[in-house]
Amino acid sequence: IEIKVCMGTSGRASGGNDVLRAFKQYIQESGIEALIGRRCRYKKVGCRGFCSKDVLVDVIINGNKVTYQSVKPIMVERIVQEHIVNGTPVNEWLTKEDYESFHTKQHKIVLGPCGEIDPENIDDYLNMNGYKAARKAITQMSQDDVIKKVIMSGLRGRGGSGFLTGKKWEICKAQKETPKYIICNVGEVNRPLAEGNPHAIIEGLLIGGYAIGAQKGYIYIRERYHLSVERLRNAISQARDKGFIGKNIFDSDFNFDIEFSFGTEAFICGEETALMESIEGKRAMPRFRPPFPAQKGLWGKPTVINNAETLSNIPIIIGKGAKWFASIGTEESKGTKVFTLSGKVKNIGLVEIPMGMSLRDIVYGIGGGIAGNKALKAVQVGGPSGGLIPLSMIDMGLDYESLAKVGSIVGSGGMVVFDEDDCIVSVTKFFIEFLQRESCGKCTPCRIGTKRMLELLTKITDGRGEDSDLITLERLSSLMTSSSLCGLGRTAPNPFITSLSHFRDEYIAHIRDKK
Ligand code: SF4
Repeated sequence: IEIKVCMGTSGRASGGNDVLRAFKQYIQESGIEALIGRRCRYKKVGCRGFCSKDVLVDVIINGNKVTYQSVKPIMVERIVQEHIVNGTPVNEWLTKEDYESFHTKQHKIVLGPCGEIDPENIDDYLNMNGYKAARKAITQMSQDDVIKKVIMSGLRGRGGSGFLTGKKWEICKAQKETPKYIICNVGEVNRPLAEGNPHAIIEGLLIGGYAIGAQKGYIYIRERYHLSVERLRNAISQARDKGFIGKNIFDSDFNFDIEFSFGTEAFICGEETALMESIEGKRAMPRFRPPFPAQKGLWGKPTVINNAETLSNIPIIIGKGAKWFASIGTEESKGTKVFTLSGKVKNIGLVEIPMGMSLRDIVYGIGGGIAGNKALKAVQVGGPSGGLIPLSMIDMGLDYESLAKVGSIVGSGGMVVFDEDDCIVSVTKFFIEFLQRESCGKCTPCRIGTKRMLELLTKITDGRGEDSDLITLERLSSLMTSSSLCGLGRTAPNPFITSLSHFRDEYIAHIRDKK
């Protein structure tokens, strides 16, 4: 009998530790194991993505798994008595149809093991062929073979512009300068991966380090992601004990070690060159390019920066093959992508979809439709600097190319759903306000541009707008897009450009009605 308790950040915040303790205590004190003649095993697992149902508990008897939702310690006695002792699950507390459709409509590759394995136990990862891909890459493949395989898979960076991961590695490997570095950026959307399957990130980093010829990897993460840091730290230490990190890995002449670098709260720290400045102990501000990080990066040396989701895909590609990976997704965008689905949708959570899945399938299939049975108005895809996609485009597929065509980005993987009651101009103002606050101020178009945009949008939402404000906003957007130094400034106008294109009538109504 196995009892799995969700112990991601949300699971713990919802009382996961208390629930696990209650199971252990009740089963021990009531002598259940002796009564039924069977042992109970307990497992702490990572996040399954549907956090509003926490604490989630799997009870597995003879391989038959049922999942309980919103479990509290007070429910434990009844679950144990009725289900474990008498064999009848407590139906009213089991997960419902929404939980099933939330999961079955996804395609979980990197999130798959989260919620299944114990992230604090390396044996669980090894039992699912963990570190086999690294062993194969390091002992049986040349660096070029590894890079070729990653290029063939079509994997593109999951954290920003979507550059081909293998190409980035190839450019870095070709540089004469040494030493080389590889950095893993663990962003907000990557936390469940770090909490639920940290060894996959470590293994991806190890393979990437081998491929480019780096002996040192950095994990760049915000210190306040306590659980992610704790589990990654534990995973590094376990991998080191097994000889997967350190000197002569897998008895080869490859040496590799990993260090943490703690970032600040600034949004700009997600930008590659700003991130490197931060690791070097300077204020996180983007650098001019070229040279690109793969040529001249951290401490002026060739550096690859991949995010945790990109790296988690690497062991799978080496293990299952580039062809297998490339069979998922679209012609240009291969594999899957993790998005945070939030806003006015019924099922809120972290989802992993095959590239190209339609927005309709995500919002109405996985998300279960709009909360309160309201009508959908728009979906902001790609985080704060993504684009607003209207209801009329609900059948578009989500991939790098399709999103670029409608003025949006894959970006950080944020997805916010808005309903008929939301004012799109206020929504746009909200995003611009965030970006204005996060602008690092290094270049004029973004520093001044975001400020002027916010002033004009505030003027419009305050009922003081004029028709000419829209023309000024359009000019500012065009200037910022073409002349800002980094991606933040270049993409900051996206919410305005897309909202004006699809919801011009709402801007006009604000200006005309003076409200
Ligand atoms: Fe800084 Fe904005 Fe310029 Fe980027 S675009 S360097 S965030 S001011």
